[in-house]
Amino acid sequence: MTGTEEHICKSCGNRFAGLYCNQCGERVILPQDRSFRTFLSSILVALTFADSKFFRSIGLVVVKPGFLSREFAEGRRVRYLRPMSLFFLLNLIYFIFPIIQLFSATLRTQLNSFHGQYAVPAIASKMTALGIRDINSFALVYDQKTGGLAKMLVIVFAILVSLPLNLIYRSRNRYFTDHVGLAVELVCFNLFINALVLSLVVALFGLGSYINEFILSSILLTTNLYFIFRSGIMFYEDTGLKLVLRSVLMIGVLKIALEVYRAILFYVTIWSL
Ligand SMILES: [Zn+2]
Repeated sequence: MTGTEEHICKSCGNRFAGLYCNQCGERVILPQDRSFRTFLSSILVALTFADSKFFRSIGLVVVKPGFLSREFAEGRRVRYLRPMSLFFLLNLIYFIFPIIQLFSATLRTQLNSFHGQYAVPAIASKMTALGIRDINSFALVYDQKTGGLAKMLVIVFAILVSLPLNLIYRSRNRYFTDHVGLAVELVCFNLFINALVLSLVVALFGLGSYINEFILSSILLTTNLYFIFRSGIMFYEDTGLKLVLRSVLMIGVLKIALEVYRAILFYVTIWSL
């Protein structure tokens, strides 16, 4: 079969030539597609292809921040993993080994954060409602619950970051979903570098006792400044003083977005307990 004859689409009824429907993208299934050999090779392709796309995409996120988002914004998409798929994959891997708290936050971290003082009454009334008198027992229940919720809520952080991007880079000829794309890429970068790679390095070299709040904050600041600065050039074609000013502004935005995200995570956790 050459694939040039007419077909009627099984999904939408459209008449078309070739192997793919030009209305909905459905593919014509050929008899050889159902053979055992095709089954085996499709597994192989799924594994290696997904892998090569995954490594190419995550490599670009690290080495050329903003490049993947630019490719997607400008319509060159087939060679890469969708940023959203990359995000879900990294999110899955990250939450299997949650060594470094980046997008999750224990009850202790929440109490020490910006909104901590407002959290105390909510905790007290929840403890009363659940009949728990000891804060350590409550912390165990809370931390168990919040880890699972954080996995679903990380995307909220990406949306929180994308909103100010719309304002700060308004003049840069990008649309709403383009800014969201870059925010998702930034979250992928953080999940990979500041959660996975950092956790691996800490575990392999036994550096756990050296990682305090100050060191972790410095690493987060440096790596995110690198990402924002590079993607400012790559994605928004920003230069000179404007590039520097917008990058510094974006660091402030990230800090605020993380605080707001943690507050949302806290109230969602309390509410669902
Ligand atoms: Zn169709």
